[in-house]
Amino acid sequence: MVFSENEIRIYKQDYPLLEGILNLKPTIWLNDSLKKSQQIPKLPITKQNMIEAEKLWTRFAPFLKKAFPELELTDGLIESPLTQIPNMKNALEDNYSAEINGNLFLKCDSELPVAGSIKARGGFYEILHYAENLAIGAGLIKPDENYEAFLSESFRRFFQQYSIGVGSTGNLGLSIGIMSAKLGFNVSVYMSADAKQWKKDLLREKGVTVHEFTGDFSVAIKAGRQQTLDDPNGYFVDDESSKHLFLGYSVAAFRLKKQLEENNIKVDADHPLFVYLPCGVGGAPGGITFGLKQVFGDHVHCFFVEPTHSPSVLIGLLTGEMNNVSVQDFGIDNHTEADGLAVGRPSSFATSISKHLVSGIYTIEDHELYKLLIMLADQENIYLEPSATAGLIGPQTISETNYLEHSNAENATHISWATGGALVPEADMQQFYAKGKNILEKAE
Ligand SMILES: *Cc1c(COP(=O)(O)O)cnc(C)c1O
Repeated sequence: MVFSENEIRIYKQDYPLLEGILNLKPTIWLNDSLKKSQQIPKLPITKQNMIEAEKLWTRFAPFLKKAFPELELTDGLIESPLTQIPNMKNALEDNYSAEINGNLFLKCDSELPVAGSIKARGGFYEILHYAENLAIGAGLIKPDENYEAFLSESFRRFFQQYSIGVGSTGNLGLSIGIMSAKLGFNVSVYMSADAKQWKKDLLREKGVTVHEFTGDFSVAIKAGRQQTLDDPNGYFVDDESSKHLFLGYSVAAFRLKKQLEENNIKVDADHPLFVYLPCGVGGAPGGITFGLKQVFGDHVHCFFVEPTHSPSVLIGLLTGEMNNVSVQDFGIDNHTEADGLAVGRPSSFATSISKHLVSGIYTIEDHELYKLLIMLADQENIYLEPSATAGLIGPQTISETNYLEHSNAENATHISWATGGALVPEADMQQFYAKGKNILEKAE
């Protein structure tokens, strides 16, 4: 369904912000449905679910430690550093001529072990959860036993009877593929042909079947869902409505709380926390926002960031149409170089929760992402993939609105969530960097 000119005119009358969004202008939207803690209606998941999800990670830690040597040092915990970036803060203040009140941190999910992106949280969790259910159901293990058994030959043979499928433009496929293959599942990743070559190569190297589809990514997803579910032992990881992915992401909040305490950072009415999260279907930023709201209540303020060419969650929430509309319906092309963010339609599960919890959404242009990539590399020697830089202009973008009138921003802590980068091959990273340099020089 593509809207007629007249339908779009009516939408614009009802939602004037759409004018700029449809013209691909960087836009900021503040959520007037944001609820205070006490007013939040009953949600389909709870803090108790998060606590149980954290316990699942603990049960699997011995398996993870043994399966992936890079987890030896952390005893099987998959977590990323929280890093203060003072030089970047100065550079942002010079470049975007606005001050940033308080501290600026980077949450380096780009360095999450094994998957190299935020998908290590949601994707790994969903596969481990599924594997555990199967194994317990078959009487192979009990929750209080040692999960190193998941590496044994008998478990692998058991999991070989089951197939897992996922549609992905890249990072989700990597996380689902890597973990499923490690456990012995038959795993297929359905990708659009334009997905990065190195991601396809890496998956095939790990024993994953990669199916490539020409045309729009939605074709790949549809075929993937169909082919997976045709198998009675098939399980499809559904990025557009998965509760498990969402829960996997939410656990980040417990970990972040600890890291903030270690840095002597307070979060309370006088010390608000602002978090800026790159957003695709909305599952990762939604899950993390849900978790942070459980942990910090009204003292945390979460903003999502989308490319100007893929504002799917923004349009879904602004118009209230949620996952019933896509950016293509509004004539937006969904073309962006931000891997993971090129999403035309939001997750139904995630947006139904985020609509009460997210403070706002802003959009960013691709060339800006490259500029930020260069700045961060030069200032802090940290290399991200382009999509992962989107949160860095968060503090200054928000300061252009009246949002801060309601909060004590002087003592704020700002966290830009860096969502991916570590697995990007050196040559690709050099290309990103060269591209950014080009953009910067043209701007001078
Ligand atoms: C997947 C991804 C996101 C966003 O996650 P969604 O759940 O799709 O909103 C952000 N950044 C990167 C690098 C990703 O791979």
